[in-house]
Amino acid sequence: MFIDSAKIYVRAGNGGNGAVSFRREKYVAAGGPDGGDGGKGGDIVLQTDNNLNTLSDLRYRRKFTAQNGENGKASKMYGKSAPDLIIKVPKGTLVKDPESGLVIKDMSDDEPYVLCKGGKGGWGNRHFATPTRQCPRFARAGVPGEEKEVLLELKLIADVGLIGFPNVGKSTLLSVVSAARPKIADYHFTTLVPNLGVVGHDGGDSFVMADIPGLIEGAAKGAGLGHEFLRHIERCRILVHMVDISGCEGRDPIEDFEKINSELAEFSEKLASLPMIVAANKIDSISNEESAEKFRKYISEKGLELFEMSAAIGEGTDALVNALSAKLKTLPPVTVYEPEYVPEQKVPETADDIKIEREGDVWFVEGEWLLRIMRSVNFSDEESLQYFQRVLRISGVIDKLLAAGVKDGDTVCIYDFEFDFLL
Ligand code: GDP
Ligand code: MG
Repeated sequence: MFIDSAKIYVRAGNGGNGAVSFRREKYVAAGGPDGGDGGKGGDIVLQTDNNLNTLSDLRYRRKFTAQNGENGKASKMYGKSAPDLIIKVPKGTLVKDPESGLVIKDMSDDEPYVLCKGGKGGWGNRHFATPTRQCPRFARAGVPGEEKEVLLELKLIADVGLIGFPNVGKSTLLSVVSAARPKIADYHFTTLVPNLGVVGHDGGDSFVMADIPGLIEGAAKGAGLGHEFLRHIERCRILVHMVDISGCEGRDPIEDFEKINSELAEFSEKLASLPMIVAANKIDSISNEESAEKFRKYISEKGLELFEMSAAIGEGTDALVNALSAKLKTLPPVTVYEPEYVPEQKVPETADDIKIEREGDVWFVEGEWLLRIMRSVNFSDEESLQYFQRVLRISGVIDKLLAAGVKDGDTVCIYDFEFDFLL
């Protein structure tokens, strides 16, 4: 079965906890704090795999959790960071926010994409040692890993989309012009999975052609097979619309041609406006010369290029490949979707749900929304830092700290962000 969309739940690993420990060695009196930091939790990483052309691997496994970082240990030992969890997806997979349907990322190149960041490890007590605070008996828990639910939707990446009624010879053409070996059979709906083939071309760049399963009437409305395949041609740069011109099955090529076109138009304007070349197949067995002639005239009146061929014996297919290769040089590249989704960064008006803990002159502040905002702040950038300080003020975190009794010069730790509180 062809699976081209899947909703998955992903969770990056938590950071390991920092350790509380003191040096204990023979002959060393009052050894200092030596608890190490926790390790980082594993990221959830998406990576494209050219051997995949469906999301069917995700059919049974929908939940992915990366490992947590190891806890810190005594003797200044860091906890080990957890490995990243890599999810392989076919090229052309769109990552979307399930609620809004907005694009988070288009997996259309070979770059890995970090979908969820693992939490940083918590600081061991060694971190908190200062000349005036020699025996910190506290450490921090690791930062929780990010989690989310995303919708994966495959939109194959192909330069040329091969469309047409079932049984007209699309798979046959692809098998003749490329190394792809799609199933070919003498009945309708043989192709259930889009097939991609690289079409090599003498003296020109090769291009990718996709054989899209037979479109049938009503496909755009979701009737029967086909409509789910329409989105796979949305990125294509050009369409080859194949028609059986032989008349063997008693079909009218003009009618078939128009039916498919109206399916395209119904699905999206973009599809309907793609450049199109017409391939009239099965010229070896034309049984109705009159209807074939009518079709030729019809296409030429529409100003479209027509290539007649017999895909089965590879006749006339070279001319089509040459024409496509030339045409592709003049067309814009395959569509890449820009990220549209912006995670909500609402700063609450009250800091009621913020937890404040105190260890001597060190204050710890934690809260879910605060962590979410922090993940998007670049703390080495002055402007972002100022933004974050504003967030603390607007939300009332500062007031809450003051109410709890924070003093000038105390240390405030918000996860792994640490600063001296100055009144
Ligand atoms: P698809 O459903 O459009 O992918 O069509 P297929 O490639 O599976 O072909 C359907 C049937 O048409 C198969 O039996 C093919 O052998 C046959 N066929 C394909 N090309 C030609 C051709 O040029 N001439 C003739 N006579 N039959 C063909
Ligand atoms: Mg086929």
